[in-house]
Amino acid sequence: MDCVIIGAGVAGMQAAFSCRQHWPQKTVTLIDAEAEVGYFRTLLPQFMVRTLAQSKLFFWKPENDPKLVVRSGLRVASLDRSNQRVILENGEKTAYERLILAPGGRPIVPGICARSSCDGIFPIRNLASARVVQKWLPDHSHIVILGGGLVGVKTAAHMARPELSVTLVEKEDQLLPQALSPRAAALVKAHLERKNIRIITGHSVEDIQVQGGELKAVQVGAKGIPCGTLLVAAGSVPDVQFLKDSDLLVKGELAVTPALQTSDPHIFAAGDAVTIQRDGNFTPWTWPQAITQGKLAGRNCYAKDPVQLNAFSRVNSMNLDGLSLVVLGAPVMGAEAVVYSRPGEGICRELFLKNGRIVGGALVGDISGAGVLHAAMNAGVEMDITDEDLLKPMSRALRQISIRCSRPKRRALFK
Ligand SMILES: Cc1cc2nc3c(=O)[nH]c(=O)nc-3n(C[C@H](O)[C@H](O)[C@H](O)COP(=O)(O)OP(=O)(O)OC[C@H]3O[C@@H](n4cnc5c(N)ncnc54)[C@H](O)[C@@H]3O)c2cc1C
Repeated sequence: MDCVIIGAGVAGMQAAFSCRQHWPQKTVTLIDAEAEVGYFRTLLPQFMVRTLAQSKLFFWKPENDPKLVVRSGLRVASLDRSNQRVILENGEKTAYERLILAPGGRPIVPGICARSSCDGIFPIRNLASARVVQKWLPDHSHIVILGGGLVGVKTAAHMARPELSVTLVEKEDQLLPQALSPRAAALVKAHLERKNIRIITGHSVEDIQVQGGELKAVQVGAKGIPCGTLLVAAGSVPDVQFLKDSDLLVKGELAVTPALQTSDPHIFAAGDAVTIQRDGNFTPWTWPQAITQGKLAGRNCYAKDPVQLNAFSRVNSMNLDGLSLVVLGAPVMGAEAVVYSRPGEGICRELFLKNGRIVGGALVGDISGAGVLHAAMNAGVEMDITDEDLLKPMSRALRQISIRCSRPKRRALFK
């Protein structure tokens, strides 16, 4: 066996395509615990409420490439590095020449939910559970979503349907606390409330009531909320338990270099599972990063000259069923904020700058210029933060930044 990849999520799939493209003589075997692979995890909320057809959910179909083998429904239990083999839960051993680890994350299920052995509580994580939720919802239309981060907010936005009653519960005092400032998050909250979603911040689910083996209600603060469905979106952690005896973890984290190499020269890693070590640790946790890293891991795994990742941002764009949002990076302590806010129009555009350079920001309601700002952030372009036009949509200042970002490329062309 040449290259074995553990995890056929987006990072693992991209690594497989990239390895086949760069090293066509090598075979690639993808192993995944899920029965179905090659789907957009990001579209599960729409799929659960049947606004997305199953045919649109998959980005990969079994292809006629005899050198790419996908083995689904199989979980890797551990590694035997000295013999270059992966050991599956069913006892099978598979040899590798190169190994790419892309096991992603697993959902955090708070103790109160994990202890309640009843029907009606589902972590939002994979297609198998989304299929169960899809069938469950028509008879259990009172829904509580636990967690107001990216997954919870997206799910709530897409569940805003007349036949469903949705309450979103977030323990911090605002939605999207790890991505947005309170000002920008207030617009997301207002958008969801306009869609009749009830939002409770500053509390968590404190008790769960069960009747006849089914969820009946949850207690949030002083309120009892009748519900038959509890969707858990309380965050994820890297799914790296199977590596605990591999000596690849550093303080429990799957540490890689910027070229995505682990401490073993035969083993690379990509996606939500990794921590990239580079002037401090970088953990990506976004779909675009998982794609970029997967491609790079596939390219690098046999390369004599491994290339380093050049995009260390967590930029993320999404449409919350009518509200566009681009997150360039979370609010940064000690950074200066530049803000263009039109709350009445549902617009908030803000940047966080350190030493005149963008270190984070978000565009809510009007995402024009997001590409330019992202490029400026990656290129470390210095901004004039006194320029009032800086964040006005389609402004002269934005056009000038765009020109400055594209300059190096032009020079390179004429070399
Ligand atoms: C509902 C939802 C909505 C999201 N929306 C967005 C969004 O709008 N924008 C965004 O940027 N990100 C979003 N994300 C996050 C995004 O999906 C992840 O960042 C991305 O999927 C990470 O890709 P990955 O390949 O690293 O991991 P995963 O997609 O988690 O894939 C890992 C795979 O590895 C398999 N695996 C794990 N351990 C083993 C093992 N031991 N043996 C075999 N197989 C194993 C798993 O079964 C899984 O299929 C969302 C996530 C969810 C759940």
